[in-house]
Amino acid sequence: MKGKVYLVGAGPGDPELLTLKALKTLKSADVVLHDELVSAEILALIRSSASVISVGKRGGRPSISQQEINRLLVEYGLLGLNVARLKGGDPFIFGRGGEELEAVRQAGIECEIVPGITAALGAAASFQVPLTHRDAASSLLLITEHRAHEIGMQLSQADLANTTVVIYMPGQNYSRIQKELISSGITSGTPCAVVSQATTPYEQTHQTTVGELHRSPELPAPTLLVTGYVVRFAKPANFSYALGMPLYKPADIREGAL
Ligand code: SAH
Repeated sequence: MKGKVYLVGAGPGDPELLTLKALKTLKSADVVLHDELVSAEILALIRSSASVISVGKRGGRPSISQQEINRLLVEYGLLGLNVARLKGGDPFIFGRGGEELEAVRQAGIECEIVPGITAALGAAASFQVPLTHRDAASSLLLITEHRAHEIGMQLSQADLANTTVVIYMPGQNYSRIQKELISSGITSGTPCAVVSQATTPYEQTHQTTVGELHRSPELPAPTLLVTGYVVRFAKPANFSYALGMPLYKPADIREGAL
């Protein structure tokens, strides 16, 4: 009898952001193949009799090829095992989950997807940035650095001004991303933030504007770049706890007062 493969989202880092379904899957899997991004606290939740295999990048060494990962999923599935493929964030957001799903299906093995909290949502929650907002952003674009130069082709100027853009895998070449964003039509005054290791004890953020992005410090990976007026809502250094309210109002953002 064939086993079953679960593509499981581990969330952005904080173990408490795992879903109950992900936890249940980790408690019952015979084999777990995990990415490097998955934290030790989450790996500690795997049942002790399971085989745990890291298939991610380690110490700069190249990761196991995607083809090899697909092959392992199929091989264990055909052995009749319950296989959990544990991936950072959500398995279907920039995680090659679609390729793994296809390989498993082609082998005639049942596959179940356990969604996870993608990094953009984890970062937004940590730093209190509402990714959409009635006064500041009506749409959300999740994109990788490789495709950042195409933003302008996908959206009109009017839409861009109302869109929060989250760039995954931004790398450290902020000058290049800055040029790509500006050539796409994102104005240099647009607020943006580099968010590092969101939802972990080491999380930090650097808030700036697209025009000043090239001066950003290199924060530890993994990082995300968030651009858009909603970044102004980030848990501010200038939050007035005494007043219990931020020092700005959404209307200020709209009117470009900030
Ligand atoms: N499937 C994952 C994304 C995998 S691509 C998800 O849904 O989140 C890996 C990229 O995700 C990293 O380069 C980084 O841009 C982002 N990322 C993952 N975890 C992160 C975290 N805790 N903080 C900031 N960015 C993170």
